[in-house]
Amino acid sequence: MKAQIKLFRIFGIPIVIHYSWLLIAVLVAFSLAVQFAATNPRWGTTAIWGLAILTTLLFFATIVIHELSHAAVAKARGLPVRSITLFALGGVAQIEKEASDAKTEFWMGLAGPVTSAIIGAVCLGTASVLGWTPARDQQTPLAAMLGWLGVINIALAVFNMVPGFPLDGGRVLRAIIWWITGNASRAIRIATGVGQIVAFAFIIFGLFRFFNGAGFAGLWLTFIGWFLLDAARSSYTQFELADRLRGVRVSDVMVKDWPVIDTDTRLQAFVDDYLLRTGRRSFIAEDDGRSVGMITAHEVKDIERERWGQLRVADAMIPLAKLHAVRPTSSLTKVLEIMGREDVNQLPVTSNGHLEGIVSRSHILGLLQTRMELDTSGT
Ligand SMILES: [Zn+2]
Repeated sequence: MKAQIKLFRIFGIPIVIHYSWLLIAVLVAFSLAVQFAATNPRWGTTAIWGLAILTTLLFFATIVIHELSHAAVAKARGLPVRSITLFALGGVAQIEKEASDAKTEFWMGLAGPVTSAIIGAVCLGTASVLGWTPARDQQTPLAAMLGWLGVINIALAVFNMVPGFPLDGGRVLRAIIWWITGNASRAIRIATGVGQIVAFAFIIFGLFRFFNGAGFAGLWLTFIGWFLLDAARSSYTQFELADRLRGVRVSDVMVKDWPVIDTDTRLQAFVDDYLLRTGRRSFIAEDDGRSVGMITAHEVKDIERERWGQLRVADAMIPLAKLHAVRPTSSLTKVLEIMGREDVNQLPVTSNGHLEGIVSRSHILGLLQTRMELDTSGT
């Protein structure tokens, strides 16, 4: 089940909303309504709620514009953009490849906060002309809305420029270190390290505020810190993984002499004579010499023991057509990503619809371990 909804496309980029964003949208609309009701009760309930919802939608639009600015730079520099996803803590532009030079990373990171700052300045400027003041009372609905959007966008720009990876500021920091030292790995190590320090600062400050009576606002900061910590760590792990596996292709690690099993074999015989005897874990099921499926201990385990005598390999195997096949030229990081997403440990490798081999998670992890032991990364 996917916890997200595809909304529409802008410049060919799908805009996706994660359900957690809806919860935040309700919270934002609600708190805006409470705020408007406290500062300008004379507007009336209908106008207050209408304005709160409209302001929330426009807030959503400004976040999309922020992410689109990242995506625009990425596209202009030849990096494919998969989607823009909005979730509880904001937006994220999913860019398929890492920037290959410091300059791209720099402009890509900077584009978002600059865009938010411009939106904020325009909104605040217009709001001031319309009579908005920071005191927030005695003003028109339009001025109140623009004033709030202005303040929130300036806040977004400032927050995103905090120099901890994966925040935009962290990307900019990484780009600058990368540019100065010429070393991409060292730059990400420092930027994610600073990211973790920033995350801890958020957590500690949030807890401090919470215990001093700030309530939900304090917990919220702690939550953001915890999220940033997790994101900084996983960006680093991901980068290290990609670095270690760079230059290795599926064709290098795939098994070409896969064991086969006839689809008519009873499961009991498959277990006794193949799985428990050979030590091999994945078999290609053949029907009249044609490869039609894949079967491992995992599939057999899901079937009750009593039925192993009656059922055949054909009943338990995963048809090849149902498995996500990879190409011999695919990168191992992509393969690991697919295995994680589909929750499988082996994938068939095909080229022109023909089975070329099997790539398994244990092989990739074995290679990774060897490369770590010898402390080498890709060349
Ligand atoms: Zn951003």
